[in-house]
Amino acid sequence: MRVAIIHNKKALSLEVAAKLRELLQKAHYQLDQDDPELVISVGGDGTLLSAFHLYNHKLDQVRFLGVHTGHLGFYTDWRDYELDELVDSLCTQEEKAISYPLLDVTIHYRNGKPSQHFLALNESTIRRSTQTLEADVYIKDELFEKFRGDGLSVATPTGSTAYNKSIGGAVLHPRINAMQLTEIASLNNRVFRTLGSPIVLSPTEWVELDLAAINDETHYTITIDQLALERTQVKCIVYKIAKERIHFASYRHTHFWRRVRDSFIGEV
Ligand code: NAD
Repeated sequence: MRVAIIHNKKALSLEVAAKLRELLQKAHYQLDQDDPELVISVGGDGTLLSAFHLYNHKLDQVRFLGVHTGHLGFYTDWRDYELDELVDSLCTQEEKAISYPLLDVTIHYRNGKPSQHFLALNESTIRRSTQTLEADVYIKDELFEKFRGDGLSVATPTGSTAYNKSIGGAVLHPRINAMQLTEIASLNNRVFRTLGSPIVLSPTEWVELDLAAINDETHYTITIDQLALERTQVKCIVYKIAKERIHFASYRHTHFWRRVRDSFIGEV
């Protein structure tokens, strides 16, 4: 099996990545950063997000596995002191393939500028930095609400415990094939009326945000996981549950709600 290791720059992650490389070579795995079948991230959730974006053009061939060197790991099943056990599991255990939904994001521009397409593992948000964002929210082709406020976020189920949770979104079990639209500080008055609560959409639905730009230079910040794009001339953004999914190499089962409890509540 061809394996790539992606790590952050922290001293512990560098040390853990070096030890993992050595153990994998001893076990006759081929290290291949360009064309891997297994991508192991060493760091935190952010490192796994980076690894996903590095290899998101090969999602049908790559499986991901996360080793965490810090605390709080939603995408990281293994601890830094478990490398021997991890390599042993790779060699001896049958892997259970687990896949989770991704978010498909298309940004359409005005004045014939070509549209841009992205995949998000956690979420995508749109905000205006200094003024309120105005957007008509369509679900499928029907106008659902006229939004006015700081911004909007659309999250995947695995991303529901990340930024989505901080803005009052629900935590979704990652096996649910859905996406969640959550408001960021909406303004409600007689003209702009929003639902005021997060909504969960099914795979047959899509969300279109039509932006009521004041002029072509109206400036938006659009995020795709860690990536922040500063954009003008944005006409609309379309969010769908992607055809592609992320595949994790699972050698141990971590109960999702236990992980949520341990991360956010602690000892009960
Ligand atoms: P970062 O290093 O600032 O990470 C922010 C925190 O989010 C870290 O503790 C990380 O472990 C956690 N996190 C990331 N994905 C998670 C997930 N799926 N479930 C639970 N926790 C998760 O930022 P980064 O490394 O650049 O990662 C970007 C992600 O961080 C974004 O996709 C966003 O969801 C999240 N984020 C959250 C907030 C917030 O909650 N207010 C703010 C900024 C970024």
